[in-house]
Amino acid sequence: YAGKSANQLLGEHVRKLMVKDYKSLPIVVKEETSAYDAICTMFLEDVGTLFVVKDNKQLAGVVSRKDLLKTAMGKQDLQTIPVSIVMTRMPNIVTCSLDDSLLDAAAKLMRYQVDALPVVRQMEDGDGVEVIGRITKTTITKAFVELGQHTDV
Ligand code: ADP
Repeated sequence: YAGKSANQLLGEHVRKLMVKDYKSLPIVVKEETSAYDAICTMFLEDVGTLFVVKDNKQLAGVVSRKDLLKTAMGKQDLQTIPVSIVMTRMPNIVTCSLDDSLLDAAAKLMRYQVDALPVVRQMEDGDGVEVIGRITKTTITKAFVELGQHTDV
């Protein structure tokens, strides 16, 4: 172990965990999806965050549980109000990439106080990014449990 402390070894191990190995499938809706249908999708897909995409799959925004709760408290008709009105939109979306470390993604979840990050890559044609995965607080919790159970440092 070349004189390294347990903490150093654990740190090295943790920094090797990569977004590409832990990401889960993104659940996406279109900009014109109604707030009502977005709520249904959250229940059916069992997620707390939906990514909103344009017709060409480009990331347009993020809609969270509280965004939809806020909408439901208003007088608007949930069946007709589109998620594009209530979402947080680009360029204000915090994202991560396949080659980022899980530690960097976790630090972003903490720093920006959000539950989920879209994993994105540059679009092949045109500008903007497309969504190819999802990192959530659950992802981090799962990795933490695995570390505690399997690590031999
Ligand atoms: P909730 O509000 O349901 O607790 P979040 O804490 O994730 O869920 O969301 C808080 C706010 O931040 C919401 O308005 C949401 O649209 C926005 N948000 C969620 N994820 C992101 C992200 N990755 N980047 C920027 N804003 C986000």
